[in-house]
Amino acid sequence: MNLDKFNIEEIAKLVRNIISSSGDDPQRDGLNDTPERVAKLYKNLLSGYSMKIEEVTNNSLFSTTLDDMIVIKNIEFNSLCEHDLTPFFGTVNVGYIPEGKIIGLSKIPKIIEVFSKRLQVQENLTNEISSALDSIISPHGLGVVIEAKHSCSILRGDNFSSSNLTTSSMHGSFRSNLNTRQEFLSHIQNNT
Ligand SMILES: [Zn+2]
Repeated sequence: MNLDKFNIEEIAKLVRNIISSSGDDPQRDGLNDTPERVAKLYKNLLSGYSMKIEEVTNNSLFSTTLDDMIVIKNIEFNSLCEHDLTPFFGTVNVGYIPEGKIIGLSKIPKIIEVFSKRLQVQENLTNEISSALDSIISPHGLGVVIEAKHSCSILRGDNFSSSNLTTSSMHGSFRSNLNTRQEFLSHIQNNT
């Protein structure tokens, strides 16, 4: 998968087809620029395919003697559901206990983008972010919790459409030690 393959012209043509196949006129005033605009929007929503984790995290690890928990809460993200190409969006919470290394704070949202700006499902997104962070920081333990709303279920009017889907992925001591996991979860529940 490679964004170099992203063909704006071709996507715009397909959007024009959607409009005319729906019975509307793609040439009329309000719709004239819509196909190109949609293609550009999708290029942004799928920009993760052209990002490389190594480039995103370049030179941003620092040594530390800290061995207490670091928690970064409510990092906003949006992504595109691979089942119906509609957005899902919400927040990512990350916690870890370092083992000699910490990562620059600004890098975590970038790492999230590498995986969220693709066709995704929330469960895999959660795993991919936690596995990437785990291998970059090699912490004592690490957890990722994502809460998101899904346009597909809102549009369909599912019973749970107003609620968030929560997914989590725990590594190391966050998985093996109940107290550590609880400490992380209480940090992110206490929304201050
Ligand atoms: Zn969906």
